[in-house]
Amino acid sequence: MEKPELKLYNTLTRTKETFIPIDPNVVTLYTCGPTVYNYAHIGNLRSYIFPDILKKVLKMAGYNVKQIMNFTDVGHNTTDEDFGEDKVEKAAAEKGTNAWELSKFYAEAFKKDITALNITFPSKFTYATEYIKEQIDMVKTLEEKGYAYLTSDGVYFDTSKFDEYGKMAKLDIEGLNEGQRVEFKEKKNKTDFALWKLSPSDKKRQMEWESPWGIGFPGWHIECSAMVFAELGQHIDIHTGGTDHIQVHHTNEIAQSECSSGEKFVNYWLHGAFLVLEKNQRMGKSEGNFIILENLIDEGYSPIVYRYLTLTSHYRNFLTFSLDILKSAENSYFSLKKSVKNISQKDDSFGEEKQKEFDNAIFNSLLDDLNVPKSIGILWDMINSKELGNKNKIELIEKYDTVFSLNLLDFSDLDEKIDIPQEVIDIAEERLLVRKNKDFKESDRLRDLIHEKGFEIKDLKDAYEITLLK
Ligand code: AMP
Ligand code: ZN
Repeated sequence: MEKPELKLYNTLTRTKETFIPIDPNVVTLYTCGPTVYNYAHIGNLRSYIFPDILKKVLKMAGYNVKQIMNFTDVGHNTTDEDFGEDKVEKAAAEKGTNAWELSKFYAEAFKKDITALNITFPSKFTYATEYIKEQIDMVKTLEEKGYAYLTSDGVYFDTSKFDEYGKMAKLDIEGLNEGQRVEFKEKKNKTDFALWKLSPSDKKRQMEWESPWGIGFPGWHIECSAMVFAELGQHIDIHTGGTDHIQVHHTNEIAQSECSSGEKFVNYWLHGAFLVLEKNQRMGKSEGNFIILENLIDEGYSPIVYRYLTLTSHYRNFLTFSLDILKSAENSYFSLKKSVKNISQKDDSFGEEKQKEFDNAIFNSLLDDLNVPKSIGILWDMINSKELGNKNKIELIEKYDTVFSLNLLDFSDLDEKIDIPQEVIDIAEERLLVRKNKDFKESDRLRDLIHEKGFEIKDLKDAYEITLLK
């Protein structure tokens, strides 16, 4: 089947390129997963929504997608330069729990969060601790090929041996090496990074393994490369992550993967922009100012409202978050759903040409580097158009909600969000008093009055609930 043209912005070339898969039918996609030492914050979660959209657009375009997402459950240190402490071990020590249990707990919490956000699971979740052999083998290959050297702290990758090092990030290698202090004297170049770290001699780690270089644990970057190789092959189509990974993590993934295999690692690198707080404050687990999905639920928001908010901005643009911004996203989300509900109640059918036009316009914006905000704008125009029937509109809403995944045709949460007029609330309050005084005749009269205004009242203990009259 002839596939439509999909354009993706490739960080490698800083241009939008036409997507050409390695295998015409199955797209290989790797998504850098979370480091599981805490809950994912809503910024982290944003960076998993755009690969979800990508996957769904690829499917709509006729591809099968094989997606792998990892859990970094070992080896991610508190600094990107491989120093400091292992985040998982540190968190386990602080909480007085076991590193294995802690990482499993947060991996499960992450799965729960993405389920709540209608992000479909990858073909497989991979845990870094389950690919230790593959990581050791890759380090051995790099050592045999002369790209690695041993220090008292572990095995390091010699970045000066790879001419293309830092190309994607446009790193100024000379400047970096000259201008900055090398914090670890045995490192040959500032940008060299750990492939295998040796366990400290004075402390027993909870997660550590035997290796040809001594007991230790893998570096963060080697994990992703080894899992890609093991599950998807040495050369894949697409790799995703947040923009913060361009400089170090993905730069190092490219270096070690390409030096180990001798071929190109990834054809398209896609990076999602950050969610920031007002005044451009970065949200980060390490910054300690993070908001998790549960906090939004506690504030009365549905996770899907958060998904909707993220879809109002292009994945390559910063998204500013505040509760006020979320509130206005909630308003527009529910007004979109109310409009959908209205049209679902009529079933006139006409304007097939117009339907096709809207269909193409929505799909083309999605195919244009996943321009979801634009496609939602067109969906609104379609809803308001008089040139096609309600049945035709519902067909398109159904079709594109398989990509947006906003539950647009589930109206069960709409009643809670109705605006109840003050006048109706006043009558309900009066009726509460009347019922306390056991004046049931007056209570019935007030119930009828509420009915006349189009609402239903349900009696609860010393309270009431108002819904729309059905
Ligand atoms: P981590 O759990 O720290 O490995 O991060 C998981 C993912 O979240 C990575 O792809 C990061 O690039 C991404 N990320 C971290 N902070 C933010 C943020 N504030 N906004 C969007 N993505 C983020
Ligand atoms: Zn990664």
